[in-house]
Amino acid sequence: MKVLDKTIEQWLGEYPLLKNMMDYKPVQWLNPRYDHASKALKKLNFSISDIVDAEGRLRRFAPFIAKAFPETDKHDGIIESPLLELVDFHSHSKVYLKCDHQLPISGSVKARGGIYEILRYAEELLFKNGLLKITDPYDIICDDKIKKFLSNYKVVVSSTGNLGLSIGIISAKLGFKVYVHMSHDAMTWKKDLLRSIGCEVIEHESDYSYAVEMGRKIALKDPTAYFVDDENSKNLFLGYAVSAFRLKEQLKEAKVEITSEKPLFVYIPCGVGGGPGGILYGLKEVFGDRVHCMFVEPTHSPCMLLGMMTEYHDQVCVQDFHIDNITIADGLAVGRASKFVGKIIDELLLGVSTVEDDELKAYLKLIDEKYEVFLEPSATAGVKGFYDMLKIEAPIYGQVSITPEMVAGGTHIIWSTGGNMVPDEVRKKYL
Ligand SMILES: *Cc1c(COP(=O)(O)O)cnc(C)c1O
Repeated sequence: MKVLDKTIEQWLGEYPLLKNMMDYKPVQWLNPRYDHASKALKKLNFSISDIVDAEGRLRRFAPFIAKAFPETDKHDGIIESPLLELVDFHSHSKVYLKCDHQLPISGSVKARGGIYEILRYAEELLFKNGLLKITDPYDIICDDKIKKFLSNYKVVVSSTGNLGLSIGIISAKLGFKVYVHMSHDAMTWKKDLLRSIGCEVIEHESDYSYAVEMGRKIALKDPTAYFVDDENSKNLFLGYAVSAFRLKEQLKEAKVEITSEKPLFVYIPCGVGGGPGGILYGLKEVFGDRVHCMFVEPTHSPCMLLGMMTEYHDQVCVQDFHIDNITIADGLAVGRASKFVGKIIDELLLGVSTVEDDELKAYLKLIDEKYEVFLEPSATAGVKGFYDMLKIEAPIYGQVSITPEMVAGGTHIIWSTGGNMVPDEVRKKYL
């Protein structure tokens, strides 16, 4: 059997790390193309003004969000999560948890990109049809007239669970008809919740990539349908990127100084790549070479690692290499990474660590017991990135070098990505 005209033996010869990946052994891959931010960012079709634009849009929508979701009222409709110091997490390194499991509205990182993309689409429709002007107070979007208008339009999305939740909740609130294509990984409670708010859930027996293909195909045939394309969406990506502006303020408030000698290290769980990719992009625009990001994937779903290491991106999937894409980390159960994201982060990402399900379970318990913070399994993956980084004993010399002293003296952020919506009985089972 061949993959892209090469035998597995040929692949293993070119990429020795594949052997451990195929044996489900945890690995740490460092990106040989990792380069200076200024150089890498220049090659992209994005600029910081795109993030500024997205941030401004979220600000315009804040009065609507505050009114439609009263839990966001105390932050005036701004959807943001706290930065929590994990005191004594490690003997000498300063470690923080970026608590996206606490993001309002949908309790996961998807409340960034997913909600942003739907707001942008709604705004475009309302502008075009003369129902909203940029100078209006956006809480008028709560009016029945607007809800009725938007009910003529459909939103379609494919998901392993959390993106569906996020898109479903915001779209239903705006009045859209919502269709969520779920992969077999999706938790029953996530499907039940969506149905309870009027979304149609289509269940697939297959994995995430197939659910995306189906959703995209069905939406394309229907001119009133808008497909949220998790594999290719610039809007999702920019919604995630806004987090970097907010984090900069939070670090300032916490009086954390970030320098090139004492940089920021950020560890983010990765599925198809949109969430972590957008966050990474934003962080690089804000902090440049003073931030270094590692993604973390399950040993059974290392799709971004596979795509980036081989540079074949979405032309290869983990199943091609007999890796089964079965993991308790449902949010990360993706076998084929986004090429759109892979190309953007090609020189911006420091590397990828992989993690076993049993380790995720241990982190879940540890963080719950020590800090009384409950995370879903996917959301704990960043912890592994941190532990792997600590193991670096010699400097990593590349275009950008990183020394053990920088790791020891730097500030570490474990990006938690979901957990607050998990129902009590499921929570108890996890613990
Ligand atoms: C979706 C998700 C991720 C990763 O985001 P991608 O855009 O799929 O890479 C990480 N953690 C959780 C809990 C998620 O739901």
